[in-house]
Amino acid sequence: MKTMRLKVYGIVQGVGMRPVVARHATACGITGTVANLGPYVEIFAQGDEDRVDDFVRLIEEEPPKRAAILKVDARTLDDAPIYESFEIIESGKTSGEIFVSPDIAICDECLEELFDKGNRRYLHPFINCTCCGPRLTILDSLPYDRERTSMKEFPMCEKCAKEYHDPATRRYDAQPVCCNDCGPEVFILDDPEERRGRDAIIYARKLLSEGGIVAIKGIGGFHIACDAYNEDAVRRLRELKHRPAKPFAVMMRSLDSVKAHCETTALQEEILRGHQKPIILLPRKEGSDLARGVAPGNPSLGVMLPYAPLQSLLFDYDDGIKMPDALVMTSGNVSGLPICRDDDDARREIARFCDAILTHDRKIRIRADDSVMDFFEGKPYMIRRSRGYAPLPYMMSEDFKGSVIAYGGELKNTFCIGVNNLFYPSSYIGDLTDLRGKAVLAESVERMETLLETKPQLAVCDLHPSYNSSLAAEESGLPLVRVQHHYAHILSCMAENDYHGDCIGISFDGTGYGTDGTIWGGEVLRCNPSGFERLGSIRPFLQTGGDIASKEGWRIAVSMLIGIFGSRSEEVIEKLGLIKNGTFKTYKAMYDGKINSVISTSAGRLFDAVSAILGIRYENTFEGEASTALMYEAMKCNYHVCACDYELIGEYVETDQIVKDLVLRRLAGEDPRELAYRFHRLLGEAAAEFVSANAGTVRTAALSGGCYQNTLLLDVTKKALTNRGFKVLTHGLIPPNDGGISIGQAFYGMNKLKNGGI
Ligand code: ZN
Ligand code: ZN
Ligand code: FE
Repeated sequence: MKTMRLKVYGIVQGVGMRPVVARHATACGITGTVANLGPYVEIFAQGDEDRVDDFVRLIEEEPPKRAAILKVDARTLDDAPIYESFEIIESGKTSGEIFVSPDIAICDECLEELFDKGNRRYLHPFINCTCCGPRLTILDSLPYDRERTSMKEFPMCEKCAKEYHDPATRRYDAQPVCCNDCGPEVFILDDPEERRGRDAIIYARKLLSEGGIVAIKGIGGFHIACDAYNEDAVRRLRELKHRPAKPFAVMMRSLDSVKAHCETTALQEEILRGHQKPIILLPRKEGSDLARGVAPGNPSLGVMLPYAPLQSLLFDYDDGIKMPDALVMTSGNVSGLPICRDDDDARREIARFCDAILTHDRKIRIRADDSVMDFFEGKPYMIRRSRGYAPLPYMMSEDFKGSVIAYGGELKNTFCIGVNNLFYPSSYIGDLTDLRGKAVLAESVERMETLLETKPQLAVCDLHPSYNSSLAAEESGLPLVRVQHHYAHILSCMAENDYHGDCIGISFDGTGYGTDGTIWGGEVLRCNPSGFERLGSIRPFLQTGGDIASKEGWRIAVSMLIGIFGSRSEEVIEKLGLIKNGTFKTYKAMYDGKINSVISTSAGRLFDAVSAILGIRYENTFEGEASTALMYEAMKCNYHVCACDYELIGEYVETDQIVKDLVLRRLAGEDPRELAYRFHRLLGEAAAEFVSANAGTVRTAALSGGCYQNTLLLDVTKKALTNRGFKVLTHGLIPPNDGGISIGQAFYGMNKLKNGGI
């Protein structure tokens, strides 16, 4: 006879670990106990030696579907009590490394039951089991038990309780288990007719099928939905939301519907159907008959499959209403604010966009927007890491000790908590353009600190003095370190790759606050986890027009061309059609007087300017519009040789030379698509050449910053660096944009703690 104690670390909370362990124990004929202890599951296993060994092997080889086991600590005990049976014991409490499971999309078994007339959960909008359902978004604290979630308000009925306690069922120990008799209920918000349950769902479906706009409470917040085939509905939604062109995400009934509209690879199909269900950016097929207004002028489409049972019911129900197989599903928020989480948010912020709000009484504790995924070199390349992924931690190989909280940037905000060698990037908070965003950030930080049972010793924030995220960090009262924005981007790429050495970072980005008080954004930095040196940047230019310039790329183009062409600039600018005849003097005066102007090295603004110069987009109605359009135009071209007869580097990455060359070619009548490609290619070559000339002995490069959402730029730059003998670090599941910088800041903070800098 042998007794072993096992500690299983990883995502073991809320994934049905204990019931699976109990089943394995029964199968192997061993006795003992299993308990959730927060950071790990603890198992005592007693029986014949062979059987105990079999049991241990089963746990490692056949864990629950959604578990992610990082480590199993097993030791034999000499002196143990005798166990008569195998039992699950209620959660105790310990602190330490905590693994909080992200929310899990509805599983195939639950989906089948949802539409099975004979099942007692037929059409139940909250059906779930041990391997699916909400997790992070309903959690108050750990260990994960019903009483510590927002499901505690819903006492289980007798039948559900029986399943919950019976190891033979799929709902054994499933914390959010419920049914039509005992679960939460959907209803139409502030409805004079008080539609609830079935009536509410039918009403929402009817509205959607007739071209209405309906807000729907999901797992991590509200969505706003309409028929994705209905041009009028989509246009009306755009008008109400003041969102003229930014693509809307679309939710489709099934993978078959997706394939009818988009090109997919096997891996993309697997992820679309998987348990995380992000939005994936897919090339749209020629014949796709969705409303043009869904993603105007955009060759790709952001698509996801239903992940909450309520969403499946919008497509299929027993009311005879014919529903489209694709619905616009855009985040339920006012542009610039975090997603709405409760009914009051919805009333205040989105009720005016909608014909009705379909809500429910299960509270959302933490917001989780949909994740958005692109692909690079056939692999996932995250644009927004949130629902389904956050707060899965990154484990670094370095031996860090202590705890830090990093507050992230100002746009696309996320924060990140570092505890020892684990880094937990948060779900997406959003833009912090006003104080409401800041309040959401502060509240979410507090909640995550509670969940992870950690009290950070150090706060980290951006160098920008007036970012709301920096202000939130100051208000934490903790010792504070500030990290330059573009260095934080490179640190995030290093952190994701678990790279701790020296590298040359190309941080091509929108704008950020530089150490010299000017606007940075096209930087080449020599970095390691302790600090950086600015080796250079793209050639600085005068950015006139203040804040409007970030929206109106033609303004950047005008001031840039005045700088490049001097006395010839009036003629050039007018020929390019960047300004109206006769207005040149005004812009020249602004340039000469440096009125409302800053010196900038922003690569993002350079892209906007080139987009305007090539006549592709003159302004942005949403962030990145002009540069994305430039990329898509470049991707249409077949001309892949870019000879160039001028110096690409000198004191700077000589972007002026590239722009000058593009202008002359454009005026000579060359195809803007080929010039768009030429721009990407030469910028990549120039940056790589500059790195090569300044790298010294360093042979690793890292690519980060919002411009690297542009996968063409990423591709040409990576190739140019590889050709020059560099190993190139790129992002994967951490976004290259500002949504990723919090993990870089946290990495810096942990390193600072380690080296006693605080
Ligand atoms: Zn399930
Ligand atoms: Zn029930
Ligand atoms: Fe940035």
